[in-house]
Amino acid sequence: MPDDQSRTNSEIVQRYREKTPKSEALFAQARAIFPSGVTHDGRHLDPYGIYVDRAEGAYKWDVDGNKYIDFFGGHGALLLGHNHPKVMAAVEPALAKGTHFGANHALEVQWAQAIQALLPSAERVRFTSSGTEATLMGLRLARTFTGRHKLIRFKTHFHGWHDHMTSGYANHFDGTPAVGVLEGISDAVVLVAPNDREGVKAALAAGDIAAVILEPTGSSTGMVPTAPGFLEFLREETTKNGAILIFDEVVTGFRVAPGGAQQHYGITPDLTSLAKILAGGLPGGAIVGRKDLFDALDYAATAASGKEKIQHPGTYNANPVSAAAGIAALDHIRTSDACAVANAMGDLAREKINEVFAQEGVKWACYGTFSSFHTFLNPQNRDIDPHRFDALEIGYEELKAKPKGLSHRIRVAMLVNGVDLNGWPGGNISCMHTADDIVATAEAWRETIRMLKKEGEI
Ligand code: PLP
Repeated sequence: MPDDQSRTNSEIVQRYREKTPKSEALFAQARAIFPSGVTHDGRHLDPYGIYVDRAEGAYKWDVDGNKYIDFFGGHGALLLGHNHPKVMAAVEPALAKGTHFGANHALEVQWAQAIQALLPSAERVRFTSSGTEATLMGLRLARTFTGRHKLIRFKTHFHGWHDHMTSGYANHFDGTPAVGVLEGISDAVVLVAPNDREGVKAALAAGDIAAVILEPTGSSTGMVPTAPGFLEFLREETTKNGAILIFDEVVTGFRVAPGGAQQHYGITPDLTSLAKILAGGLPGGAIVGRKDLFDALDYAATAASGKEKIQHPGTYNANPVSAAAGIAALDHIRTSDACAVANAMGDLAREKINEVFAQEGVKWACYGTFSSFHTFLNPQNRDIDPHRFDALEIGYEELKAKPKGLSHRIRVAMLVNGVDLNGWPGGNISCMHTADDIVATAEAWRETIRMLKKEGEI
Protein backbone atom coordinates (compact mmCIF):
# COMPACT_ATOMS: atom_id res chain seq x y z
CA MET A 1 0.00 0.00 0.00
CA PRO A 2 1.50 3.36 -0.90
CA ASP A 3 2.13 5.91 1.83
CA ASP A 4 0.25 9.18 1.88
CA GLN A 5 3.63 10.73 1.09
CA SER A 6 3.42 9.28 -2.42
CA ARG A 7 2.74 11.38 -5.47
CA THR A 8 2.50 9.35 -8.58
CA ASN A 9 3.48 12.23 -10.88
CA SER A 10 6.60 13.26 -8.94
CA GLU A 11 9.63 13.74 -11.16
CA ILE A 12 11.78 13.79 -8.03
CA VAL A 13 10.61 10.33 -7.04
CA GLN A 14 11.02 9.15 -10.64
CA ARG A 15 14.65 10.32 -10.72
CA TYR A 16 15.23 8.66 -7.37
CA ARG A 17 13.91 5.35 -8.70
CA GLU A 18 16.12 5.61 -11.78
CA LYS A 19 19.16 6.18 -9.61
CA THR A 20 18.51 3.39 -7.10
CA PRO A 21 17.12 0.25 -8.83
CA LYS A 22 19.05 -2.19 -6.63
CA SER A 23 17.74 -0.51 -3.48
CA GLU A 24 14.24 -0.83 -4.89
CA ALA A 25 14.77 -4.56 -5.53
CA LEU A 26 16.02 -5.11 -1.98
CA PHE A 27 13.10 -3.16 -0.60
CA ALA A 28 10.70 -5.41 -2.50
CA GLN A 29 12.08 -8.33 -0.47
CA ALA A 30 12.19 -6.37 2.78
CA ARG A 31 8.59 -5.23 2.37
CA ALA A 32 7.51 -8.85 2.57
CA ILE A 33 9.36 -9.37 5.85
CA PHE A 34 9.56 -6.18 7.92
CA PRO A 35 6.64 -3.90 8.78
CA SER A 36 6.94 -1.05 6.23
CA GLY A 37 10.08 -2.82 5.03
CA VAL A 38 12.29 -1.16 7.67
CA THR A 39 14.10 -2.03 10.88
CA HIS A 40 13.90 1.44 12.50
CA ASP A 41 11.08 3.99 12.15
CA GLY A 42 13.62 6.70 11.31
CA ARG A 43 14.69 4.79 8.19
CA HIS A 44 11.20 4.76 6.75
CA LEU A 45 11.03 6.60 3.46
CA ASP A 46 8.50 6.44 0.70
CA PRO A 47 8.88 4.88 -1.88
CA TYR A 48 11.86 3.16 -0.16
CA GLY A 49 15.12 4.08 1.53
CA ILE A 50 18.58 3.55 0.10
CA TYR A 51 20.36 0.30 0.89
CA VAL A 52 23.91 1.10 1.88
CA ASP A 53 26.83 -1.10 0.93
CA ARG A 54 29.77 0.65 2.57
CA ALA A 55 30.81 3.86 4.27
CA GLU A 56 33.98 5.82 4.93
CA GLY A 57 34.59 9.11 6.76
CA ALA A 58 31.73 11.47 5.92
CA TYR A 59 30.39 9.39 3.02
CA LYS A 60 28.41 6.30 2.26
CA TRP A 61 27.74 4.39 -0.94
CA ASP A 62 24.55 2.56 -1.79
CA VAL A 63 24.22 -0.82 -3.49
CA ASP A 64 23.90 0.96 -6.86
CA GLY A 65 27.29 2.59 -6.31
CA ASN A 66 25.93 6.11 -5.61
CA LYS A 67 27.94 8.21 -3.16
CA TYR A 68 26.24 10.35 -0.51
CA ILE A 69 27.45 12.92 1.98
CA ASP A 70 26.10 11.38 5.15
CA PHE A 71 24.32 13.45 7.78
CA PHE A 72 22.45 10.53 9.30
CA GLY A 73 25.74 9.82 11.05
CA GLY A 74 24.69 6.49 12.50
CA HIS A 75 21.66 8.16 14.16
CA GLY A 76 24.14 10.49 15.86
CA ALA A 77 26.69 7.84 16.86
CA LEU A 78 29.37 8.87 14.39
CA LEU A 79 30.96 12.06 15.64
CA LEU A 80 34.21 10.58 14.28
CA GLY A 81 32.65 9.60 10.97
CA HIS A 82 32.59 6.12 9.50
CA ASN A 83 35.52 3.75 10.10
CA HIS A 84 37.69 6.19 11.99
CA PRO A 85 41.23 4.74 11.78
CA LYS A 86 41.72 4.76 15.57
CA VAL A 87 38.43 2.99 16.16
CA MET A 88 39.12 0.42 13.44
CA ALA A 89 42.60 -0.23 14.82
CA ALA A 90 41.04 -1.03 18.20
CA VAL A 91 38.10 -3.08 16.93
CA GLU A 92 39.99 -5.47 14.66
CA PRO A 93 42.22 -7.03 17.38
CA ALA A 94 39.30 -7.06 19.83
CA LEU A 95 37.19 -9.03 17.33
CA ALA A 96 39.99 -11.52 16.85
CA LYS A 97 40.14 -12.15 20.61
CA GLY A 98 36.46 -12.99 20.92
CA THR A 99 33.10 -11.29 20.65
CA HIS A 100 31.65 -12.31 24.01
CA PHE A 101 33.37 -13.71 27.07
CA GLY A 102 30.39 -14.14 29.39
CA ALA A 103 32.78 -12.80 32.01
CA ASN A 104 34.39 -9.63 33.27
CA HIS A 105 37.16 -8.24 31.08
CA ALA A 106 39.80 -5.55 31.23
CA LEU A 107 38.27 -3.44 28.45
CA GLU A 108 35.07 -2.79 30.42
CA VAL A 109 37.15 -1.26 33.20
CA GLN A 110 39.09 0.89 30.76
CA TRP A 111 35.87 1.91 29.01
CA ALA A 112 34.32 3.11 32.25
CA GLN A 113 37.53 4.95 33.14
CA ALA A 114 37.47 6.62 29.72
CA ILE A 115 33.95 7.87 30.55
CA GLN A 116 35.08 9.13 33.94
CA ALA A 117 37.99 10.99 32.34
CA LEU A 118 35.41 13.02 30.40
CA LEU A 119 32.41 13.10 32.75
CA PRO A 120 33.34 13.81 36.36
CA SER A 121 29.69 13.19 37.33
CA ALA A 122 30.14 9.49 36.48
CA GLU A 123 31.05 8.29 39.97
CA ARG A 124 29.53 4.94 39.05
CA VAL A 125 28.83 3.36 35.67
CA ARG A 126 26.50 0.58 34.54
CA PHE A 127 26.70 -0.47 30.90
CA THR A 128 23.62 -1.39 28.90
CA SER A 129 23.07 -2.37 25.26
CA SER A 130 21.29 0.81 24.18
CA GLY A 131 20.18 4.29 25.14
CA THR A 132 16.65 3.01 25.73
CA GLU A 133 17.94 0.63 28.37
CA ALA A 134 20.04 3.41 29.90
CA THR A 135 17.04 5.71 30.47
CA LEU A 136 15.00 2.75 31.72
CA MET A 137 17.60 2.00 34.36
CA GLY A 138 17.99 5.70 35.17
CA LEU A 139 14.32 5.89 36.01
CA ARG A 140 14.47 2.73 38.08
CA LEU A 141 17.46 4.00 40.05
CA ALA A 142 15.68 7.30 40.71
CA ARG A 143 12.51 5.61 41.90
CA THR A 144 14.37 3.25 44.16
CA PHE A 145 16.44 6.04 45.68
CA THR A 146 13.61 8.52 46.25
CA GLY A 147 10.80 6.08 47.03
CA ARG A 148 8.65 8.18 44.66
CA HIS A 149 7.15 6.97 41.44
CA LYS A 150 6.47 9.79 38.98
CA LEU A 151 8.62 11.14 36.17
CA ILE A 152 8.64 14.62 34.64
CA ARG A 153 9.32 14.64 30.93
CA PHE A 154 9.24 17.45 28.41
CA LYS A 155 6.97 17.25 25.40
CA THR A 156 8.80 16.19 22.21
CA HIS A 157 11.94 15.11 24.09
CA PHE A 158 13.00 11.60 23.14
CA HIS A 159 14.47 9.08 25.54
CA GLY A 160 14.08 5.76 23.73
CA TRP A 161 11.00 3.68 23.18
CA HIS A 162 10.25 1.96 26.49
CA ASP A 163 6.79 2.39 27.99
CA HIS A 164 7.53 5.48 30.09
CA MET A 165 9.06 7.40 27.22
CA THR A 166 6.39 6.92 24.59
CA SER A 167 3.45 9.30 25.16
CA GLY A 168 4.28 12.93 24.46
CA TYR A 169 7.25 12.37 22.21
CA ALA A 170 5.64 12.38 18.77
CA ASN A 171 1.99 12.29 19.81
CA HIS A 172 -0.24 11.83 22.86
CA PHE A 173 0.83 15.23 24.17
CA ASP A 174 -2.18 15.10 26.49
CA GLY A 175 -0.44 12.29 28.37
CA THR A 176 -2.85 9.55 27.33
CA PRO A 177 -1.12 6.21 26.81
CA ALA A 178 0.39 5.57 23.39
CA VAL A 179 -0.79 2.40 21.75
CA GLY A 180 0.36 -0.68 23.63
CA VAL A 181 1.17 1.25 26.83
CA LEU A 182 -0.77 0.78 30.07
CA GLU A 183 -2.66 3.70 31.55
CA GLY A 184 -0.95 3.17 34.88
CA ILE A 185 2.37 3.88 33.23
CA SER A 186 1.36 7.00 31.35
CA ASP A 187 -0.33 8.21 34.56
CA ALA A 188 3.07 8.11 36.22
CA VAL A 189 4.54 10.48 33.63
CA VAL A 190 3.94 14.20 33.96
CA LEU A 191 4.39 15.91 30.59
CA VAL A 192 5.48 19.54 30.74
CA ALA A 193 6.03 21.89 27.79
CA PRO A 194 9.70 22.57 27.00
CA ASN A 195 11.14 25.47 29.02
CA ASP A 196 7.95 25.75 31.12
CA ARG A 197 9.22 26.72 34.56
CA GLU A 198 5.78 27.08 36.11
CA GLY A 199 4.79 23.65 34.81
CA VAL A 200 7.86 22.12 36.42
CA LYS A 201 7.26 23.88 39.72
CA ALA A 202 3.63 22.81 39.81
CA ALA A 203 4.53 19.19 39.07
CA LEU A 204 7.31 19.11 41.65
CA ALA A 205 5.04 20.64 44.28
CA ALA A 206 3.04 17.42 44.53
CA GLY A 207 6.08 15.82 46.17
CA ASP A 208 5.83 12.55 44.27
CA ILE A 209 8.35 13.18 41.47
CA ALA A 210 11.23 10.70 41.42
CA ALA A 211 13.03 12.20 38.44
CA VAL A 212 13.12 14.90 35.82
CA ILE A 213 14.68 13.86 32.51
CA LEU A 214 15.50 15.94 29.46
CA GLU A 215 17.70 16.23 26.41
CA PRO A 216 19.83 19.08 27.76
CA THR A 217 20.26 21.03 24.51
CA GLY A 218 16.59 20.55 23.66
CA SER A 219 14.47 17.92 21.98
CA SER A 220 15.97 16.14 18.97
CA THR A 221 19.33 17.67 19.84
CA GLY A 222 18.12 21.25 19.84
CA MET A 223 15.28 21.20 17.33
CA VAL A 224 13.20 22.62 20.17
CA PRO A 225 16.02 24.38 21.99
CA THR A 226 16.39 24.65 25.74
CA ALA A 227 16.10 28.27 26.88
CA PRO A 228 19.11 29.89 28.54
CA GLY A 229 18.98 29.39 32.29
CA PHE A 230 16.51 26.49 32.15
CA LEU A 231 19.07 23.82 33.03
CA GLU A 232 20.23 25.89 36.02
CA PHE A 233 16.60 26.29 37.04
CA LEU A 234 16.03 22.52 36.86
CA ARG A 235 19.18 21.82 38.84
CA GLU A 236 18.09 24.20 41.57
CA GLU A 237 14.48 23.06 41.74
CA THR A 238 15.23 19.32 41.70
CA THR A 239 17.86 19.75 44.41
CA LYS A 240 15.40 21.68 46.60
CA ASN A 241 12.70 19.10 45.97
CA GLY A 242 14.77 15.92 46.33
CA ALA A 243 13.96 14.76 42.78
CA ILE A 244 16.71 13.24 40.62
CA LEU A 245 17.89 15.21 37.60
CA ILE A 246 18.71 13.01 34.62
CA PHE A 247 20.47 14.47 31.60
CA ASP A 248 19.81 12.26 28.62
CA GLU A 249 23.11 12.74 26.81
CA VAL A 250 22.65 9.82 24.44
CA VAL A 251 23.26 12.23 21.55
CA THR A 252 24.92 15.24 23.20
CA GLY A 253 27.37 13.17 25.24
CA PHE A 254 30.88 13.46 23.78
CA ARG A 255 29.42 15.52 20.90
CA VAL A 256 28.65 19.07 21.97
CA ALA A 257 31.84 19.04 24.03
CA PRO A 258 34.12 16.17 25.12
CA GLY A 259 32.30 16.20 28.47
CA GLY A 260 28.87 16.64 26.86
CA ALA A 261 26.28 19.31 27.57
CA GLN A 262 27.01 19.09 31.30
CA GLN A 263 30.56 20.25 30.66
CA HIS A 264 29.50 22.97 28.24
CA TYR A 265 26.87 24.40 30.59
CA GLY A 266 28.74 23.63 33.80
CA ILE A 267 25.81 21.80 35.39
CA THR A 268 26.12 18.44 37.10
CA PRO A 269 23.12 16.12 36.81
CA ASP A 270 22.56 13.27 39.26
CA LEU A 271 22.37 10.71 36.47
CA THR A 272 23.35 10.74 32.80
CA SER A 273 22.20 8.32 30.13
CA LEU A 274 24.74 7.64 27.38
CA ALA A 275 24.90 5.61 24.16
CA LYS A 276 25.81 6.22 20.49
CA ILE A 277 29.26 7.94 20.47
CA LEU A 278 29.93 6.14 23.76
CA ALA A 279 30.45 2.87 21.88
CA GLY A 280 32.32 4.30 18.89
CA GLY A 281 29.65 3.32 16.38
CA LEU A 282 28.97 -0.15 17.79
CA PRO A 283 26.01 -1.06 20.02
CA GLY A 284 26.24 0.05 23.63
CA GLY A 285 24.85 2.34 26.30
CA ALA A 286 25.39 3.30 29.92
CA ILE A 287 23.76 4.99 32.83
CA VAL A 288 26.25 6.88 34.97
CA GLY A 289 26.10 9.15 37.99
CA ARG A 290 26.06 9.53 41.75
CA LYS A 291 27.42 6.63 43.77
CA ASP A 292 24.64 6.72 46.37
CA LEU A 293 22.06 6.11 43.64
CA PHE A 294 24.01 3.16 42.25
CA ASP A 295 24.15 1.49 45.67
CA ALA A 296 20.76 0.05 44.72
CA LEU A 297 22.57 -2.14 42.14
CA ASP A 298 25.32 -3.21 44.55
CA TYR A 299 25.08 -6.58 46.31
CA ALA A 300 27.07 -5.54 49.39
CA ALA A 301 25.47 -2.11 49.77
CA THR A 302 21.93 -3.47 49.58
CA ALA A 303 22.77 -6.33 51.94
CA ALA A 304 24.12 -3.78 54.42
CA SER A 305 21.13 -1.46 54.09
CA GLY A 306 18.61 -4.29 54.07
CA LYS A 307 17.10 -2.91 50.86
CA GLU A 308 16.08 -4.95 47.86
CA LYS A 309 18.65 -4.87 45.07
CA ILE A 310 17.64 -3.79 41.57
CA GLN A 311 18.12 -6.71 39.21
CA HIS A 312 20.16 -5.96 36.14
CA PRO A 313 21.23 -8.67 33.70
CA GLY A 314 21.74 -7.91 29.96
CA THR A 315 23.56 -10.29 27.64
CA TYR A 316 25.44 -7.62 25.74
CA ASN A 317 26.24 -5.27 28.62
CA ALA A 318 29.82 -4.04 28.17
CA ASN A 319 30.40 -6.15 25.08
CA PRO A 320 34.19 -6.34 24.56
CA VAL A 321 34.18 -5.25 20.92
CA SER A 322 31.94 -2.27 21.71
CA ALA A 323 34.23 -1.52 24.64
CA ALA A 324 37.31 -1.48 22.39
CA ALA A 325 35.58 0.87 19.93
CA GLY A 326 34.28 3.04 22.76
CA ILE A 327 37.66 3.41 24.45
CA ALA A 328 39.31 4.40 21.16
CA ALA A 329 36.54 6.90 20.35
CA LEU A 330 36.48 8.49 23.80
CA ASP A 331 40.28 8.69 23.99
CA HIS A 332 40.38 10.37 20.60
CA ILE A 333 37.67 12.83 21.61
CA ARG A 334 39.54 13.66 24.83
CA THR A 335 42.86 14.24 23.10
CA SER A 336 41.77 15.93 19.86
CA ASP A 337 39.63 18.82 18.66
CA ALA A 338 37.01 16.46 17.16
CA CYS A 339 34.05 18.13 18.93
CA ALA A 340 35.26 21.63 18.08
CA VAL A 341 35.81 20.71 14.42
CA ALA A 342 32.31 19.21 14.12
CA ASN A 343 30.81 22.24 15.89
CA ALA A 344 32.61 24.60 13.48
CA MET A 345 31.20 22.61 10.55
CA GLY A 346 27.77 22.97 12.17
CA ASP A 347 28.17 26.77 12.16
CA LEU A 348 29.30 26.68 8.55
CA ALA A 349 26.40 24.44 7.50
CA ARG A 350 23.85 26.77 9.07
CA GLU A 351 25.47 29.79 7.41
CA LYS A 352 25.82 28.26 3.94
CA ILE A 353 22.40 26.61 3.85
CA ASN A 354 20.72 29.82 5.03
CA GLU A 355 22.56 31.73 2.29
CA VAL A 356 21.00 29.37 -0.25
CA PHE A 357 17.54 29.70 1.34
CA ALA A 358 17.81 33.50 1.12
CA GLN A 359 19.16 33.45 -2.46
CA GLU A 360 16.48 31.03 -3.64
CA GLY A 361 13.75 33.03 -1.90
CA VAL A 362 12.32 30.32 0.36
CA LYS A 363 11.16 31.37 3.81
CA TRP A 364 12.86 28.51 5.59
CA ALA A 365 15.63 28.58 8.17
CA CYS A 366 18.51 26.26 8.91
CA TYR A 367 19.18 26.47 12.64
CA GLY A 368 20.53 24.53 15.55
CA THR A 369 23.46 24.40 17.90
CA PHE A 370 26.81 22.63 18.02
CA SER A 371 27.16 19.94 15.31
CA SER A 372 23.45 19.42 14.60
CA PHE A 373 21.31 21.28 12.13
CA HIS A 374 17.57 21.46 11.61
CA THR A 375 15.33 22.97 8.96
CA PHE A 376 12.35 25.11 9.88
CA LEU A 377 9.95 24.68 6.97
CA ASN A 378 7.74 27.48 8.20
CA PRO A 379 4.32 25.77 8.14
CA GLN A 380 2.54 29.04 9.03
CA ASN A 381 4.38 31.01 6.36
CA ARG A 382 5.88 33.50 8.82
CA ASP A 383 7.88 36.35 7.45
CA ILE A 384 11.32 35.18 8.57
CA ASP A 385 14.89 36.05 7.74
CA PRO A 386 16.84 32.78 7.81
CA HIS A 387 19.96 34.51 9.13
CA ARG A 388 18.08 35.99 12.10
CA PHE A 389 15.81 33.06 12.90
CA ASP A 390 15.47 32.37 16.62
CA ALA A 391 13.86 29.02 17.35
CA LEU A 392 13.21 30.10 20.94
CA GLU A 393 10.57 32.49 19.64
CA ILE A 394 8.60 29.65 18.05
CA GLY A 395 6.48 27.16 19.97
CA TYR A 396 7.43 23.50 20.07
CA GLU A 397 4.39 22.41 18.05
CA GLU A 398 5.35 24.65 15.17
CA LEU A 399 9.04 23.71 15.31
CA LYS A 400 8.09 20.06 15.17
CA ALA A 401 5.37 20.44 12.54
CA LYS A 402 6.85 18.91 9.42
CA PRO A 403 4.67 19.33 6.35
CA LYS A 404 4.75 15.62 5.58
CA GLY A 405 4.68 15.63 1.80
CA LEU A 406 7.22 18.46 1.59
CA SER A 407 9.73 17.09 4.06
CA HIS A 408 9.51 13.73 2.34
CA ARG A 409 10.13 15.23 -1.08
CA ILE A 410 13.08 17.21 0.32
CA ARG A 411 14.70 14.05 1.61
CA VAL A 412 14.23 12.21 -1.66
CA ALA A 413 15.48 15.19 -3.71
CA MET A 414 18.51 15.56 -1.45
CA LEU A 415 19.29 11.86 -2.04
CA VAL A 416 18.99 12.47 -5.79
CA ASN A 417 21.47 15.31 -5.23
CA GLY A 418 23.91 13.13 -3.27
CA VAL A 419 23.11 14.00 0.36
CA ASP A 420 21.56 11.72 2.98
CA LEU A 421 19.70 13.89 5.49
CA ASN A 422 17.87 12.90 8.58
CA GLY A 423 14.11 13.11 8.08
CA TRP A 424 13.82 16.27 10.26
CA PRO A 425 15.13 17.43 7.71
CA GLY A 426 18.57 18.03 9.16
CA GLY A 427 21.44 16.05 10.45
CA ASN A 428 24.41 15.40 12.64
CA ILE A 429 27.84 16.46 11.46
CA SER A 430 31.05 14.56 12.11
CA CYS A 431 34.60 15.81 12.51
CA MET A 432 35.29 14.22 9.09
CA HIS A 433 32.96 16.55 7.19
CA THR A 434 34.99 19.21 5.41
CA ALA A 435 34.11 22.74 4.36
CA ASP A 436 33.86 21.38 0.79
CA ASP A 437 31.27 18.83 1.94
CA ILE A 438 29.25 21.57 3.57
CA VAL A 439 29.38 23.80 0.49
CA ALA A 440 28.37 20.81 -1.68
CA THR A 441 25.48 20.15 0.71
CA ALA A 442 24.29 23.76 0.46
CA GLU A 443 24.40 23.47 -3.34
CA ALA A 444 22.40 20.23 -3.11
CA TRP A 445 19.80 22.24 -1.16
CA ARG A 446 19.78 24.83 -3.98
CA GLU A 447 19.17 22.15 -6.60
CA THR A 448 16.53 20.56 -4.36
CA ILE A 449 14.65 23.85 -4.00
CA ARG A 450 14.69 24.30 -7.76
CA MET A 451 13.39 20.75 -8.26
CA LEU A 452 10.62 21.39 -5.72
CA LYS A 453 9.66 24.62 -7.47
CA LYS A 454 9.56 22.89 -10.84
CA GLU A 455 7.30 20.26 -9.38
CA GLY A 456 4.96 22.90 -7.95
CA GLU A 457 5.71 21.69 -4.44
CA ILE A 458 6.71 25.16 -3.20
N1 PLP B 1 17.82 9.25 24.16
C1 PLP B 1 18.03 10.05 23.11
C2 PLP B 1 18.21 11.52 23.34
C3 PLP B 1 18.10 9.53 21.82
O1 PLP B 1 18.29 10.33 20.76
C4 PLP B 1 17.96 8.14 21.65
C5 PLP B 1 18.02 7.54 20.31
O2 PLP B 1 18.02 8.18 19.30
C6 PLP B 1 17.73 7.34 22.79
C7 PLP B 1 17.67 7.93 24.03
C8 PLP B 1 17.55 5.87 22.64
O3 PLP B 1 18.77 5.28 22.33
P1 PLP B 1 18.80 3.86 21.58
O4 PLP B 1 18.33 4.09 20.19
O5 PLP B 1 20.25 3.45 21.68
O6 PLP B 1 17.91 2.95 22.35
